[in-house]
Amino acid sequence: MHKAHITVLGGRGSIPVSGPRFARYGGSTTCFALVVDGIAIAFIDAGTGLIDTATHGVRLASSVGLFLTHYHWDHTQGLSMFEELWTGACDVCVWGPDDPKSALERAISPPLFPVSIVDVPSIRFASADGPIEIGGLVITPFAIHHPQGACGYRIDGPHRSVGIVTDHEAGTDIDSGVLDAIEGVDVLIHDAQYLPEDLAAHQGWGHSTYVHAIEAAEAAGVAELLLTSHDPRRSDSAIDAMVASARKIFPDTDAARPGMEIPL
Ligand SMILES: [Zn+2]
Repeated sequence: MHKAHITVLGGRGSIPVSGPRFARYGGSTTCFALVVDGIAIAFIDAGTGLIDTATHGVRLASSVGLFLTHYHWDHTQGLSMFEELWTGACDVCVWGPDDPKSALERAISPPLFPVSIVDVPSIRFASADGPIEIGGLVITPFAIHHPQGACGYRIDGPHRSVGIVTDHEAGTDIDSGVLDAIEGVDVLIHDAQYLPEDLAAHQGWGHSTYVHAIEAAEAAGVAELLLTSHDPRRSDSAIDAMVASARKIFPDTDAARPGMEIPL
């Protein structure tokens, strides 16, 4: 039986931040490494956390899958500086909704970036439209509600399952498609960019509050909740306060921070 876990490499939403106010929950944008038998075989999203593998002791396979939830910059920008791709040390197969090749070609090519990512020999592309098995893990995409479209992923490992819903604007009713996909997972990693009082000014921006995350966790019978996509202005102490508020409703709540490991 394989031993597997997820290592959080980035849990910040929208833009990376740095400085002492963000020391514990980190400033790198969304990236989660899927590690099997001590080697990262895949990633969910390629935010700026992707370049921090060595910082967190994550060793790379020579070929990895990259499962993108969508193509907003905070989920792709790490790929532009992922040295192992550009040097050919690591082959990357990019999975994502619709057409990942054309989306990344627009984001990482002149005039927005000096060179074009689609010219790199060690990258290839595939559409994420059904369950994919990789290294003994089953990774299943499902649609979530976010501007320009996005997907979440359910990861079923040898012992436990995890649902990842990074950027999701919850409606007044809980999304039944999302609930079906994450039903009974051990851990739900869910967007909690906003506090309830932030919501009125950010309708249509594509994010949830920690209360929405709790509602989804409760409705889907989830054991543990990990809040993510932290607002770029939310300091460590403000995230502590958000987690404390959340624990009054859903006690087994924490917030994603780089280096955290989640057994699979
Ligand atoms: Zn987004």
